[in-house]
Amino acid sequence: MDIKRAGFEPSKAGPGDYFTGRVRLDAPFSGSGGLSGVTVTFEPGARTAWHTHPLGQTLLVLTGCGRVQRENGAIEEIRPGDIVWFEPNERHWHGASPDCAMTHLAIAEKKDGVAVTWLEPVSDQDYLG
Ligand code: MN
Repeated sequence: MDIKRAGFEPSKAGPGDYFTGRVRLDAPFSGSGGLSGVTVTFEPGARTAWHTHPLGQTLLVLTGCGRVQRENGAIEEIRPGDIVWFEPNERHWHGASPDCAMTHLAIAEKKDGVAVTWLEPVSDQDYLG
């Protein structure tokens, strides 16, 4: 057994190459089988770039209100308690609502050491629908 205590690692800013707006990454973890996860907090209007996950991804919304969209799909509002699954290699993004911050736990399995492939930023036009 191993307990990583809250704050075991300093909060990090989400890199500007992969995120638009202010994003905070906390409490990253990984398992022996390639499982990896992180808690992500998006300020209002902040979101990921478009991206894919080789083995898919699960999001559990913890606080606030947010948005998700897969390519060619509608923008979906997400709320605390919602669980979102993205299929392997499904292009998508996730983030806060324009006027409301959102925190989610993100969990993905790595394939050949890779959990995510980053693509282009989500434009304001795409984000606002
Ligand atoms: Mn994702």
